[in-house]
Amino acid sequence: MLKKATFRFYEELNDFLPSNKRKKRFEHDFIDITSVKDMIESLGVPHTEVDLILVNAFPVKFSYLVNNGDDISVYPVFESLDISSLQQLRPKSLRKQKFILDVHLGTLAKYMRMLGFDALYKNDYKNEEIVKISLKEKRTILTKDRGILKRSGVTHGYWIRNVKVDSQIIEVIKRFDLRDQIKEFSRCLLCNSLLRKTSKMKVIRRLPRKVKEFQKEFYYCKECDKVFWKGSHYIKMKGIIEKFGFW
Ligand SMILES: [Zn+2]
Repeated sequence: MLKKATFRFYEELNDFLPSNKRKKRFEHDFIDITSVKDMIESLGVPHTEVDLILVNAFPVKFSYLVNNGDDISVYPVFESLDISSLQQLRPKSLRKQKFILDVHLGTLAKYMRMLGFDALYKNDYKNEEIVKISLKEKRTILTKDRGILKRSGVTHGYWIRNVKVDSQIIEVIKRFDLRDQIKEFSRCLLCNSLLRKTSKMKVIRRLPRKVKEFQKEFYYCKECDKVFWKGSHYIKMKGIIEKFGFW
């Protein structure tokens, strides 16, 4: 028998839906007995984006089996909002946020590291590897590939909407409420390890002439044996962040 459920998706979850289903209630036909998680994903929304589901106004788990006539409201992860009085679907957000980025997000990874966020990235990560590391190290997956987020086992993930890195970094700071955690030049841009400050004297032989003249602060990565300073990339990114009042 053909059954019907009504769905309404809220806020940014609408990004995953075709325009005729955005920001309104719509009917969804189904035949087989299906969990609400599978039904939501079949509509295009990865479950990792979802934090609260109400069926006929009551919170349910992902495993809830949808009945004929159910009225289902689906809410996104409220990383920056306190909804602790409601029953959320995942056990606590991961607080001191750590991230792992997919192969499409190399530049974003650099920007995040520049701001001191823990952002793992390799340009040859396989999807399985990303999922495995995410679970083992409790890292939130940032991805341009919704497929990763639909894999079973994935608990924390976020699909990056913006295409340009300038907008992506703002998107990430807002979404995960990272504004107060910015700690510029605390991580290596190449390997994500923690940097330590070093004196000009110690590194002066390795510096290009102009850098020697104009730069005062230097940071050293033991892993890469590399020296960093606040060069043109940094100034560009700082400009972007300042524009949004995040500095
Ligand atoms: Zn390094």
